[in-house]
Parts: sequence; C-alpha cells; structure tokens
Amino acid sequence: MSFKISSRWTALIVIVAIASVAGAVDSTLWRLGTARLEVTPADSLWLAGYAARDHGATGTLHPLWIKAMAMQDRKSLAGVIVTSDLLGFPGGMADSIKSRCAEKYQLDRAQLILSSSHTHSGPVLANSLYDIYDLTQQDVAKIERYSERLREQIVEVIGEALARMQPARLCATNGVVRFQVNRRNNDPATLSAKTELRGPNEHAVPVLQALSPDEELLAILFGYACHPSEAHLWSGCFCDGLCERRHGLYSLRPRASGRRL
Ligand SMILES: [Zn+2]
Repeated sequence: MSFKISSRWTALIVIVAIASVAGAVDSTLWRLGTARLEVTPADSLWLAGYAARDHGATGTLHPLWIKAMAMQDRKSLAGVIVTSDLLGFPGGMADSIKSRCAEKYQLDRAQLILSSSHTHSGPVLANSLYDIYDLTQQDVAKIERYSERLREQIVEVIGEALARMQPARLCATNGVVRFQVNRRNNDPATLSAKTELRGPNEHAVPVLQALSPDEELLAILFGYACHPSEAHLWSGCFCDGLCERRHGLYSLRPRASGRRL
C-alpha cells in the first residue's frame, strides 16, 4: 500500500464534511496512531514572511502545533504525515528530520510527509528568510536554537504516533466550503454585493476521518486553500479553535495558486 497525499491535500476545513463522510473501509485493514505537541516559541522570534515587518512576535493569538498521524495497512506501515503551524520546512530541516526518522524508525523518506499550514504567523526557521529582515546576531542565535529544538520535537512526535497505532476505520470524502475568497480579484468592500467570485478559487475540502472500532473519533485530516497571516501574533490557521476542540490533525498547505487566496 503506497501512501500518497496528492496536491489535493492543500488546505483545510473541518467538521462540515464529517456528517456526510462515506466510503468506510474494513476496520481490520488499518492501524492508526496520532500525537501532537505545542511548539509556540517562548521567545519573541521573527514571524515568517512579509518583509515590511520590523519586529518579532508580540504575543500569541493561537498556539502553534506539530501533529503527526501514522497509518499502517494490513501488510505494512503505510507512512506518517506531519502537519505543522509553520510557513514551510527549510530543505535542510526536512532532510535532517527524514534522515533521523530513517535511522530511528526505519521510515523510508517516501513514507514521511512533512506538511505545513503556510502560516505567515509562524516563526522564521534556520537558514530561511534571513535576507528579508534586518536580523541581529542574537536574533539568528534564537532562531537557530528554536529550529534545532523543533527538529528534535518533530522526530519525537513522529515516534509517539508510531508507538500509539491502534485499529482504526478510515473514511474519506470531499466537501465544499465557500468562505475562501481570492483577495487579489475581489474587493472585500464590495463582496456583499457580488453574486459571483472572480479569479481562481479553491473550495474543495478533502477529508479523511479515522474512527476506532467503537466509533470513537480518533483524528481528522483535511485541507482547505487559504493563506493565513496575522501581523505580529503567533497563529497557526484560521480555524485553529475548531481543530483543537476536535483534537484533530489538519493539513493546510496552499498549492501554488493558494498563495493568492
Ligand atoms: Zn505566503
């Protein structure tokens, strides 16, 4: 069983689709484990992206999370997907995490997906975006210290998800939610008068739901195209509160066009 999450998994949305989830699979087919860890920086690091920013984070709107879901079919481990409240994974960090997981958990690189919400209210990470801000040596030291710890934490969370695998029933479906608007093609001030949105929009909500054999909700993985940003407060995604109430797992990773949404 290969483990592929295509570019369809580009964003997130929730609950909306749960009631209509269909396509249940024999519960004996799968085992699933989840784990999560809050990684909101304690220091006032710089937030990732938007060069006009002239100082670091001043507080927390929503805590930042790393979440992992490990999946095993009847024959073997399918893989692990990690979702994160980060702008993205710098290449060096991703390589390091994958190498460490290969060594520690015998996870092939293709079995590990590192996904980020592309939030612009997450921290600058080591060796990325250094050229868009006027960083001091102290700033860089704090970024590198946080990044090194984060790398270790992600490997630990993956290990916890692998260790917690239990029998699970998986259901998948696609939903549609239309609150996303392409701001480049639609003037927010005139939206209420419009009957049709302009420009590229992505309203699809692919959802994967995992239930225990007793029908207890174990995790939700979903996507929705958006482009989270908040001026100077840590924030992972727009529906963070909903995610946390469900203790779910989510993926929010805009595809190329998502950068304009
Ligand atoms: Zn962006």
